[in-house]
Amino acid sequence: MPLTYEQHLEKSRVINVLSSNGHFRVSAIKNTGVALEAQKRHQLPEVPALLLARALSAASLLAVFLTGEERVIIDAIGDGVVNKVTAEAIQVGEVRGYCEYSDRVKNLSKDEFDSALGPGIFRVLRILYNEPEPIVGIVQLIRGDISSDLNYYFAKSEQIFSIAVLDADTDENGLINNSVGMIVQAMPGATDKEKNEITNVLEHLERLTNLIKPRDDLSVILKNILPWDFNILKNDRVDFFCRCSKENFMEKLLTLNYHDVKEMKEMGQNELVCQYCNAKYYLDDNDFNNLLISIKAKTN
Ligand SMILES: [Zn+2]
Repeated sequence: MPLTYEQHLEKSRVINVLSSNGHFRVSAIKNTGVALEAQKRHQLPEVPALLLARALSAASLLAVFLTGEERVIIDAIGDGVVNKVTAEAIQVGEVRGYCEYSDRVKNLSKDEFDSALGPGIFRVLRILYNEPEPIVGIVQLIRGDISSDLNYYFAKSEQIFSIAVLDADTDENGLINNSVGMIVQAMPGATDKEKNEITNVLEHLERLTNLIKPRDDLSVILKNILPWDFNILKNDRVDFFCRCSKENFMEKLLTLNYHDVKEMKEMGQNELVCQYCNAKYYLDDNDFNNLLISIKAKTN
């Protein structure tokens, strides 16, 4: 079915701009559609949905600065009623994520979302082409709202001046109705005066969900927010997308031993669920037999 004009305007997008003097790059995102899809796929209560929305934004915003199929993963792991929020994005506009939490999360109001993770760690992983191992930065969770934690990570782990602003909101039914964010990063040549100026602008910004609505054009909003002119480098669609498949799962099962797979078959444990997107795959007798033959062939 073709999109209506309104649906077209509401599509999740991420934009990357460079200030005219080349001293700052900015990525900005509106991903209400993506965050709502994540909430629905995982049937998330309000608070985990708000945290995941921010993590999805953070991952997509950082991925904009990568090339090709380089990836970035954001993890927040805590001791609270939410144990884990994770989001993974690749540059071409795909993002996926999930949240682990206990039932007690339902006792929290949405204003308390930043207390849900409790004490813990915040981790940023970058999987880059020219690096053999992922580049990992870990800091303590400083507030648990993902936004402050990402800023703390920037301050502690990165050499580059960067500021993140992430925001998300829900409607009266607890469903995501707005999710937005931006990251400003200094480039070589940025002066302290310019850094102070942009810091001041971002610190005095109104709540970002008040400034950016799902149908807004990000480039127009950035013109209102940023104190300098800029050129648009990228303006891309973002989609909730997972590359899982039944074939991938079956490949992983090949690493199990013969008796475990045989037991799975006998117990009727034939459902495979993707953690990232909640897709379900089912193994039939044929699949099990093929797996068992392959595993036996490998061990012989
Ligand atoms: Zn999946």
